[in-house]
Amino acid sequence: MNALATKIVRWIESQGPISVAQYMNLCQFDAEGGSYTAHQTIGRDFITSPEISQTFGEMLGLWVAQTWHDQGRPKSPRLVEMGPGRGTLMADALRAISAAAPEFLDSAEIVLVEASPALMKVQREKLKTIGADIAWHEHFDDALVDRPLYLLANEFFDCLPVHQYVKTERGWCERMVGLTNGGLSFALSPDPVPATVIPPTHSSAANGAVYETAPAALALTEEIARVVESRGGGALIMDYGYDMPGFGETLQAVTDGNFVDVLNEPGDSDLSAHVDFLALARAAATTGAAVHGPTTQCKFLADLGIGERGERLIKSNPHDARTIAAAIDRLVNPALMGTLFKVLTIVPKNAPQPPGYGYD
Ligand code: SAH
Repeated sequence: MNALATKIVRWIESQGPISVAQYMNLCQFDAEGGSYTAHQTIGRDFITSPEISQTFGEMLGLWVAQTWHDQGRPKSPRLVEMGPGRGTLMADALRAISAAAPEFLDSAEIVLVEASPALMKVQREKLKTIGADIAWHEHFDDALVDRPLYLLANEFFDCLPVHQYVKTERGWCERMVGLTNGGLSFALSPDPVPATVIPPTHSSAANGAVYETAPAALALTEEIARVVESRGGGALIMDYGYDMPGFGETLQAVTDGNFVDVLNEPGDSDLSAHVDFLALARAAATTGAAVHGPTTQCKFLADLGIGERGERLIKSNPHDARTIAAAIDRLVNPALMGTLFKVLTIVPKNAPQPPGYGYD
């Protein structure tokens, strides 16, 4: 049992079982043992699109430049990235924006939203040579609602805590993390949760069915959409996830690229859950903003021109042709990341169609 497991066990012994959402949060952000605070899980346990190919961040930068241009180049935009990891996506995106629309950067404020002090340090180091003025925030909060908002979030929403409910004879009960023989184990809340917690569409589910929901992700999406609708801009949410309503739990722990038991060695692996894109789209639409997608990463990147960008990159780096082509293939191949990863876009209701949806 690692130190964080011992800490969680002690906590449960004194306070009682914790929700799956609380457990996720401790595993990710506990000051001494969290995966994002104390361990370098990105690149070791899992690899993200911007770390695979520079063309990914470049395409997202061009998306920002084009969206801003199509919307009449609003003054003083704010470019925000949620959960910037090692800062690679932002570095590549800024390079592309400065080539395609340098005027965007003249009046833009750039903000990275990052909860891990350790990763903030990595981001600062990575971006210090870029020469742009960048501010860091721990949360997406009121300080970020007063300008046109161009927001990028790649593999951020999958980190947000999920709650799980299991249908039983006595009703829907919350899945909790408790103790069995002194070790962590799953248990169900003794009392069923109020009926309003479960969507009416799930009322006829069989016993044993699991309903998973990410209230923090829904609230954040709504907040972002409200700012986009009222101030202008656009939000791009990319992640692995599903676009059909369905039952089931998707919480997963990954160590060195392999799935492991989510309760084993908390904080040592990367804990995440698949993103429910339909739920995010619905949350955004309640604000009146226009929601595009979800589409698949392969269609989206192809529409933005990743193929052409790859060809140019290969022309100027012929010795790396194979590596460049293989990296781009990994992003767009439907058997690899091309269809598992989805893209949801939010723009103001009267805004032009955002780039990236031409193949839909
Ligand atoms: N977007 C990056 C990194 C993805 S990993 C990439 O594509 O490579 C997830 C990132 O989100 C990490 O930087 C993590 O610390 C951050 N993060 C996760 N949950 C967060 C939260 N609730 N608030 C702020 N940052 C968070």
